[in-house]
Amino acid sequence: MMSEEQTVSLVDVLEEDEELEEEASAVLAGSDSDHCSYPQGYVKRQALYACSTCTPKGGEAAGVCLACSYKCHEGHDLFELYTKRNFRCDCGNRKFNELQCKLHPEKEEVNSLNKYSHNFFGVYCTCNRPYPDPDDQVEDEMIQCVVCEDWLHGRHLGCVVPDCVELQEMICESCMNKNPLLWTYAAHLSGKHAAHLSVPGAAQVKEESGADESNTDLPKKEEKGDDVIEPSCKRSREEAEPSCRLKQLQATGQKRVQSGAVFWPSAWRSKLCSCSTCKECLSEAGLSFLLDESDTVLAYENEGKNNEQRQQGHDPLMSALDNLNRVQQLEIIHGYNDMKSELKDFLQRFAAEGKVVTPDDIRQFFEQQQSRKRRRDDAGRFYCT
Ligand SMILES: [Zn+2]
Ligand SMILES: [Zn+2]
Ligand SMILES: [Zn+2]
Ligand SMILES: [Zn+2]
Ligand SMILES: [Zn+2]
Ligand SMILES: [Zn+2]
Repeated sequence: MMSEEQTVSLVDVLEEDEELEEEASAVLAGSDSDHCSYPQGYVKRQALYACSTCTPKGGEAAGVCLACSYKCHEGHDLFELYTKRNFRCDCGNRKFNELQCKLHPEKEEVNSLNKYSHNFFGVYCTCNRPYPDPDDQVEDEMIQCVVCEDWLHGRHLGCVVPDCVELQEMICESCMNKNPLLWTYAAHLSGKHAAHLSVPGAAQVKEESGADESNTDLPKKEEKGDDVIEPSCKRSREEAEPSCRLKQLQATGQKRVQSGAVFWPSAWRSKLCSCSTCKECLSEAGLSFLLDESDTVLAYENEGKNNEQRQQGHDPLMSALDNLNRVQQLEIIHGYNDMKSELKDFLQRFAAEGKVVTPDDIRQFFEQQQSRKRRRDDAGRFYCT
């Protein structure tokens, strides 16, 4: 049986929207909430905030780290920017008039490599609107472009939003058009062509590549596709390495409509060519991060989850689990989740009837749970051996 204290903390947890909670912990777990990230320099990916109290619209944009948002901007009007890559905390630097950073006051005047966007003034998307938007009643998902890291309304992407958006990285139309080599990859990797790219398709590309190495018609073929814009990098076609996957894809001449945002299948980054020519092109376009699987938000979130587990989490029940073996852990997690959702239902019934929940009610609930659990256990469980 649980102590009173644990019961109270569980009720508190349940009061919050579980989904929001999970989302928040995914974003925050990868960032340090106690120490300003400035000494780490340009952090690969971190949760970021903009403070409209300190750096209002019309002035210079600035972003602060998670710890600074708590310790230096408490009570200020903050915009949550989710995560951004390669950013160094600005808290208290020249962009801030009065404010001194409490955590790391010794900062350069500005961080010249930081990239800013309208997000830092609390507006998003091509429609330049706040989020949530008081004048917009349409329910719509905001999706982050992995290149410019702006957030766009699903309905403003110019393409059909796939069902499982969380699992797919998106590049907005404007970023696609700035980097035409992405359209070549898109023709092969995303949308309705994606099916061809599963294992048999990939094998096909390989076969063609064998033939292409000795194929002297190759450059001519490319020139025929005059709406395929070549990457604007210096060493482009003549010097391309024979094994360049991008060249091979261009040579197949496969096209797709070049408009709207593009959703990419999982692990698409690993399919990009990383020959030295392509590496240089991507670097010149400021896209080197695309060759780095650990740049993804997913990788960041997974790392955060691991960190959280290492720190044994905030949840006293979950941390108690660390002392149990794997099978015991799974059984208890399973039971815990069931219990959590049942307790939620139980409490909602009280709320719907306008009744106050008494400690007795809670005790009764847990007693019912116990007897129900026992019955469920008797009903036949199977064990992994
Ligand atoms: Zn900071
Ligand atoms: Zn502030
Ligand atoms: Zn600070
Ligand atoms: Zn929009
Ligand atoms: Zn973009
Ligand atoms: Zn290449």
